[in-house]
Amino acid sequence: MNLESVLSNAGDRTSILKKSPVRGGDINDAWLIETENERYFLKTNHEMDEAFFKIEETGLKEIVSSNTISVPAVYQSGESEGTPYLLMEWIEGDKTGQTEALLGQRLAAMHRVTNEQFGYGGNTCIGRLRQPNGWYDSWTDYYCSKRLFPQMELAVSSGRMTGKRRLKMDKLLSKLDLFLPHNPEPSLLHGDLWGGNWIAGAGGEPYLVDPSVFYGDRELEIAFTELFGGFGHAFYEQYREAFSLEGNYEDRKPLYQLYYLLAHLNMFGESYGSSVDRILNRYI
Ligand code: ADP
Repeated sequence: MNLESVLSNAGDRTSILKKSPVRGGDINDAWLIETENERYFLKTNHEMDEAFFKIEETGLKEIVSSNTISVPAVYQSGESEGTPYLLMEWIEGDKTGQTEALLGQRLAAMHRVTNEQFGYGGNTCIGRLRQPNGWYDSWTDYYCSKRLFPQMELAVSSGRMTGKRRLKMDKLLSKLDLFLPHNPEPSLLHGDLWGGNWIAGAGGEPYLVDPSVFYGDRELEIAFTELFGGFGHAFYEQYREAFSLEGNYEDRKPLYQLYYLLAHLNMFGESYGSSVDRILNRYI
């Protein structure tokens, strides 16, 4: 890609001092770019098309307009010499004793931003997988049709959903109303909130990164934070104080973690299979 021209289109015509790789993401190449003027976070991906980063940009802007929690500012996205890219604000800071508490409070505030229907206007991504969307009046219908079902189909087509696993998954989907008799408010969600998708900025301010936004049950978001860790006691305490969870959240939690485990099964393979089976066995 032509980095000079990307930066110059973003309004920075000063010299590039350094381009260093940043580790931590699953999917993209990421870089710290330092110019005489500014530091930037640049993501590139040769395997995706330009739309891939447009989706991330739209999600970040949707969170900005909620005015509830910090996200990096997006300067520019597009394609340079055949390479799709996303150029944004570089965030750097140290976690303080307050950071996780603030993250809990601010995420709760974001979840209080609601919509009339569930879903989202455009397709998003979960990791590198396309995530279909649409608008639904029923949360259970949305969760079945646009979340669990597409992941199940993908797993079937790659041979990762066979035998008992497939039978149980079919049964679960056909009876999802029974297991998920739940009519939550459609909350604005980050949508992919694992421990690697929040970082601390200046003064310990928590920032969300790499969203896959949509409007859905906020319990889904909290269930995913609990799946792989990365969120401490202060986060949950402050979240619940700002926006308490219903007593029977724990009954739904595995059903919500199932979606993320299926996506991981599809992206990373059978090492996630036994966790998928454990949840299916609990309900079927
Ligand atoms: P991927 O889409 O490949 O998963 P991420 O957007 O999650 O990539 O970014 C990878 C890592 O880079 C994150 O885990 C985080 O530590 C760091 N990071 C993300 N955004 C920024 C940013 N704006 N400034 C500084 N570091 C960032």
